[in-house]
Amino acid sequence: MSIPSGENPSFVLNSIKSVAFEDRPIPSLKSPTDVLIRIGITGICGSDVHYWQHGSIGPFILKAPMVLGHESAGTIVQCGSAVSSLKVGDRVALEPGIPCRGCKFCKAGTYNLCTDMKFAATPPYDGSLAKFYVLPEDFCVKLPDNVSLEEGALVEPLSVGVHVCKLANVTAGDKVAVFGAGPVGLLAAATARAFGAAEVVVVDISEQRLKFAGEYAATGTYDARKGDARANADGIKEQFGWTFGADKVIEASGAEPSIQTAVFVLRAGGTMVQAGMGRDVVAFPIVEAAAKELVVKGSFRYAAGDYELAVKLVAEGKVDVMKLVTGRYDFKDAEKAFEETKSGKGIKVLIRGPE
Ligand SMILES: [Zn+2]
Ligand SMILES: [Zn+2]
Repeated sequence: MSIPSGENPSFVLNSIKSVAFEDRPIPSLKSPTDVLIRIGITGICGSDVHYWQHGSIGPFILKAPMVLGHESAGTIVQCGSAVSSLKVGDRVALEPGIPCRGCKFCKAGTYNLCTDMKFAATPPYDGSLAKFYVLPEDFCVKLPDNVSLEEGALVEPLSVGVHVCKLANVTAGDKVAVFGAGPVGLLAAATARAFGAAEVVVVDISEQRLKFAGEYAATGTYDARKGDARANADGIKEQFGWTFGADKVIEASGAEPSIQTAVFVLRAGGTMVQAGMGRDVVAFPIVEAAAKELVVKGSFRYAAGDYELAVKLVAEGKVDVMKLVTGRYDFKDAEKAFEETKSGKGIKVLIRGPE
């Protein structure tokens, strides 16, 4: 596959397992408050790989060719006539979903719940793995000088970590258990530390991922291959001396046994936030959840203020996102980058360009 020599080379998913480079027209500004961004770096997300391999996620089904990618950072090359907060040359992280702005969810700041969301690389909307992309100025977060474009691209998954930690109300001194040591779990663990959690225990079934988590943000790790859900919850409490259990749990694996362990390991009155997406329906220990008066919350992407806080955490050195980068590819090798992400060997793979 070679890159077309045209003006806006884009990496397009045509149908399941079929990707191609395509020259698309440079998108035009749709509103006076839009900006045109030259994409510098794009990270690959599990959802990109899922669309590539399966063509759908839940109700979102690929019916026409779609540009992939939604974790991007770039440089402003054109501003609409009414743009006031950005100028040409500014480097920005792209928040890749535009809500309707008018519904009750949007008005409440929970625009991630908007039913009229246009989200990059979620069918039918094109993603940002292209040379140019258009966004309204208020969905671009300016990067301070000490934040690189690579860090800017990683702001997207970090915002998910910020959102779940806010929903879980992670606060100073908390004992937090994070299930799943993929990018979201790791970034949630790092955010929990930044929010002041005293202990953050990461639980997974991969020795390699646990080792990484231990060197990254976890204060402790637990290998869940040891036992069933109840035994693992007891094992975590015992290993870390958590007599009453965890104050907060972030479930970022989506695996049924982890969800059950999460309920068993929480202290009475504790909070669990579900961030992982696995099977549609699981067996849930509802009596235990009721008897302990647990707070159980869902979570979806990120909402008002999350992107800004994620940029701040990176700029202030409170979360190191660069340690997660395990692969870098040029745009022309985008398919290889997808293959590497699919293999599950690394953690985060970034694509440079197109030049
Ligand atoms: Zn993502
Ligand atoms: Zn809305």
